[in-house]
Amino acid sequence: MARVRFAPSPTGYLHIGSARTFIFNWLFARHNGGTMILRIDDTDVERNTEESLDSIFEGLRWLDLGWDEQYRQSERFRLYRDAAEALLENGFAYRDFTPPDAKALSEEGEGKAGWLCHPEMRALSRAESDRRAAAGEPFVLRFRVPREPERAVVFRDLVYGEQSKSTADIEDFALLRSTGAPTYHHASCVDDADLRITHIIRGQDHLTNTFKHILLFEALGARMPEFAHLPLLIAPDGAKLSKRRHGPVVSVLTYRDAGFLPDAYVNFLCLLGWNPKDNREKMSREELIEAFTLEGVNRSNAVVNFTDEDPIDPKALWLNSQHIYSLPAERLAELLEPVWRRAGYEVSRGKALRVTPLIQERIKTLNDAVSVADFFFVRELAPYDPAELVPQKGDRAMALRALEKALTVLSDGDFSHAAIEERLRAAASGLGLKAGQMFQPIRVAVCGRKNAPPLFETLEVAGREICLERIARAIEMLRRES
Ligand code: GLU
Repeated sequence: MARVRFAPSPTGYLHIGSARTFIFNWLFARHNGGTMILRIDDTDVERNTEESLDSIFEGLRWLDLGWDEQYRQSERFRLYRDAAEALLENGFAYRDFTPPDAKALSEEGEGKAGWLCHPEMRALSRAESDRRAAAGEPFVLRFRVPREPERAVVFRDLVYGEQSKSTADIEDFALLRSTGAPTYHHASCVDDADLRITHIIRGQDHLTNTFKHILLFEALGARMPEFAHLPLLIAPDGAKLSKRRHGPVVSVLTYRDAGFLPDAYVNFLCLLGWNPKDNREKMSREELIEAFTLEGVNRSNAVVNFTDEDPIDPKALWLNSQHIYSLPAERLAELLEPVWRRAGYEVSRGKALRVTPLIQERIKTLNDAVSVADFFFVRELAPYDPAELVPQKGDRAMALRALEKALTVLSDGDFSHAAIEERLRAAASGLGLKAGQMFQPIRVAVCGRKNAPPLFETLEVAGREICLERIARAIEMLRRES
């Protein structure tokens, strides 16, 4: 049974790349009937913040995919300490008492290139090491990378294929810092082993860490998981996406706040580095689960498109419009109601249900519904240019005739869109006007703009009272101008 995990470090908000890692893990789990685990990698107390944790949860909750099990590394220190002790006991690890000073190596062993270990520390006898530790001397616990003889560490990444590195090129990496806190490598592998993770699916930036992890899994006596690394996400100029340089573009919540449907965003992220091999683009959650396999993940970096002015990728916007279009209107109405309320409109459920189908194919984001449907909700239209009332092939007098006639024919009788249409068409021919010459003045009078949803339905939903009021107002404006 597949068990996968998403393991964010709470050092910032939920990054677009992390969200994609989460989604690929989730799809893999769902496709294979496996288990999705959320593991919070919060061992680095100096860099972790509760705020960041909250915002990661906020992002994940918005994606609305859920997970099956949840762990926090900060609650599992015991496990890492026990595992470290066992590694020391079995000779897979040793204490390094080299004092860390500014010039020396960091605890991760990243010093000058090619650094492998402090040989004298590696060679320290166990008795001497125990004595110095008992005396309270600080140390870093390091993994004893097999060196004599050196060997190749080999694995087949499910995306990047065959990988190999000689232990002659792997430094004795730290397992425990001098504070006793586990490093990422240690905590991550101990957890992956303990949680019986079968597939590690994560960003390509971790590909080279995998050699260390394999050595560690071997030493822990764990069953070796499979590895799949995901291609990098890059900016249009080829730069790696970074929180610092690309700010809002990389935050998941930017898309939420722009009025995206989580399913559309999930769909968009899936197409960054994966494809279903049949040219489909717009895919529902169910279709993604059904189609998702790691074989479909590409090796080449995936470009996220944005500009300095607009952080939203046009492809994402298009997908969002498609997802909005395919929602049942009742569901969309439910989603739009709060958007309209936030804009300050009074909206009843009934009104939301009637307006929604009229604008469903005209909005690319939920937020668009505010500017596209405002005239349904306000009593007074925002000021518009009365010249808009005049049809293209016509003049002011013609507009006036059309509106005066409309005022009469709409003031009584059935106000269903079919009846409205019938009466307005008859009125147009009575006046010798083309449909467009009759309808444009009415549309502008009621909606305040030329570009609006289908006229007769719009009139019906706006209601007789509003329509008559606005048509009368438009007549007044035209008269005043002539
Ligand atoms: N906490 C690590 C990160 O955020 C997890 C990497 C992994 O999946 O092993 O990069």
